[in-house]
Amino acid sequence: MGEAQVSLKHLFRVFTKPEHKDSKLAQIEQHLSDNILDFLSQHVVTKKTSLEEIEQDFSDAIVPESPEFVSTHAEALLEKLVAHSVNTYSPTFIGHMTSALPYFHLPLAKLLVGLNQNLVKIETSKAFTPLERQVLGMMHNLIYGEDDAFYHQYLHSARHALGAFCSGGTIANITALWVARNKTLGPTKGFSGVAKEGLAAAYRFYNISNLGVMCSKRGHYSLSKAVDALGIGRQQLLTIPCPDQTLDPQTALTEGKRYQEEGNKLLAIVGIGGTTETGHVDPLDELADVAKELGCWFHVDAAWGGATLFSNQYRDRLKGIHKADSVTIDAHKQMYVPMGAGMALFKNPEDANTVRHHAQYILREGSKDLGATTLEGSRNGMAMMVYASLHIFGRRGYELLIDQSIEKAKAFAQMIEKHPDFELITAPTLSLLTYRVCPASVQKKLQTANVKTRRSMNQKIDRLVVNVQKLQREAGKSFVSRTRLESPDYPDRSVTVFRVVLANPLTTQNDLTAILAEQHQIATGTKTWQDLEEGKYSLSH
Ligand SMILES: *Cc1c(COP(=O)(O)O)cnc(C)c1O
Repeated sequence: MGEAQVSLKHLFRVFTKPEHKDSKLAQIEQHLSDNILDFLSQHVVTKKTSLEEIEQDFSDAIVPESPEFVSTHAEALLEKLVAHSVNTYSPTFIGHMTSALPYFHLPLAKLLVGLNQNLVKIETSKAFTPLERQVLGMMHNLIYGEDDAFYHQYLHSARHALGAFCSGGTIANITALWVARNKTLGPTKGFSGVAKEGLAAAYRFYNISNLGVMCSKRGHYSLSKAVDALGIGRQQLLTIPCPDQTLDPQTALTEGKRYQEEGNKLLAIVGIGGTTETGHVDPLDELADVAKELGCWFHVDAAWGGATLFSNQYRDRLKGIHKADSVTIDAHKQMYVPMGAGMALFKNPEDANTVRHHAQYILREGSKDLGATTLEGSRNGMAMMVYASLHIFGRRGYELLIDQSIEKAKAFAQMIEKHPDFELITAPTLSLLTYRVCPASVQKKLQTANVKTRRSMNQKIDRLVVNVQKLQREAGKSFVSRTRLESPDYPDRSVTVFRVVLANPLTTQNDLTAILAEQHQIATGTKTWQDLEEGKYSLSH
């Protein structure tokens, strides 16, 4: 069925000729262009198919022997894949940082794929290289605000880099710490640097037991991958408890000194500009001073929250970010660019040279090949999507989007606080908040219960929250995620909470009201709710 000829003539056609306008592929294209929301809602969320069933469709580990007609294959994709994809455009999908995209990215994506430029070297990208450098310059300017002369000097300099464009926040964090590592354990008299000699030699030469990176417990797991990949080791990621959700500068200083006194070297403090779990921002200004006092690198992971800098009203929430040696920003989060767009920005345009690589056939000395200072090799022209978005929205457009997200989060927080059966756990600093569902009577009893009773009550409420989150997800109308947090109100242990990210501009207050009502309805229908109301806190009920 749908088997195509195995001939070069047929394959050349696949490379060069568009599908007939009535073909399935052309229909998909037309449908997407007419109304993407309609396209998605026809295919998504409603179907209840278990992952195990879906796996059946993807269980064959043999490469198909013969070619298939493109249109036949497009039908199969619709049926097997698109029908079971997640509708990230839905206004009631408020559990993650992945959201609806502006429509213009669809035709631009076609252009991007069509041109198939490779940013690793000028020879395969030409104009895309200066474009990417300009994008990095604009983002650098947003953070560091240097003067015109600075950008005139460095924006297109072959011997400098204002940042590194990459596929996301994870690679950006690794890149930043890679640069920090190579600079800290750099070449000096008698040692040609960690990049050449390796970590073991560097530790011997610099006489250190270990290298460490410090962040709060809310640090993103990519930091743990970073210290692993860079050979520093996961045990040397010093994650500091943060019952108030942010890294306390005094604790950072004390812990940093203690670490150094034990014969170790603190490589970097990582401040978080919008944590993934609660949206809190570390006191960046103070942490920069602590890093200076300890003599270490200061990195800010603003993968999610960095876009707040567009807002004149809220950019203060990231106060002190300009003191960072490096900053991570993901354009595929609050800048509404398709996935695959992250950036590490460097305060000092010389710093990227610590990781510079040369090869004979590309990345030659003095060339402007971006691949010389990026971790990744072949890369597509995603910077074009960032460039287009920066122009199409402008700073003021982004400001509106950021402001309305934060204001919506505040309104939702008020809704939760007003509702007797909900409890706000962390208020929104940015457009992210956490809360839980719990009968009003139980909330009251919690205030006076002794530690032991409170613990079992909280465990029972945890179970309720998990139940409600799963049932709501399975019902398929809306999606809220969940996580576990330490909270100042419950210092003895973590509690399970709903986590909401208000990233989608299409989400309305009515959507939020409906989500809360649905959660309430689901909750009150459970056995756990009944138990809680009847004072049965044991988990065996
Ligand atoms: C999302 C996120 C990351 C990781 O970014 P990816 O693009 O998923 O690799 C890192 N740090 C923070 C704070 C994030 O929110």
